[in-house]
Amino acid sequence: MNRILTYPEDNKLLRRKAKRVTNPQSTEAVIAVQTMVALAEQWERDNPGQKAEGLAATQIGVPLRIILMRNATDDPSPEHKWMVMYNPVYVKSEGMQDSEEACLSVPGVSGLTLRPEKSEFHFYDHNLRRHPEVGEYVATGFTSAALCHELDHLNGVLFIDSAVKLWRTGSKPSEIGTARASILLPGDPEFEAALA
Ligand SMILES: [Zn+2]
Repeated sequence: MNRILTYPEDNKLLRRKAKRVTNPQSTEAVIAVQTMVALAEQWERDNPGQKAEGLAATQIGVPLRIILMRNATDDPSPEHKWMVMYNPVYVKSEGMQDSEEACLSVPGVSGLTLRPEKSEFHFYDHNLRRHPEVGEYVATGFTSAALCHELDHLNGVLFIDSAVKLWRTGSKPSEIGTARASILLPGDPEFEAALA
């Protein structure tokens, strides 16, 4: 699969639950990571001025628990730009925040979801060494929301499932969170029109 899967046409594949990676050096895992980096880079070239914040293997049709996350660095070289997380595990969270989200697999739609303000994870590197070796990986604010979004993908969950409000990207309703009537729901003709 050499493209990023999109909703609704690829819904069935996007809903698959990913399996643990037992060998990150396997051909399947190595090619998956290379393809994820290439597709994220391609997406950024196709969408100038926008950043791909993360990509899950399930979004390219590979049901493995691998997440690509943009590093908080301006270094443009791919090996520093992306962090690859194998078998990420959500440990615990603290607080809640409003999170405005979009997804490379749901083009044209943005939404408001509730995400943990602070969340703790652990994950493994390409040698299956656990990171961090001591304690947990703590993400706050935007990174916490982004990681939860990507982890959801590995379980076949999309942000449109839990969003309290959805809108066509670029036409953010001013009454966010108040007017129930303007909530778009997947399956509604209005939602499908936003994707068109
Ligand atoms: Zn996504």
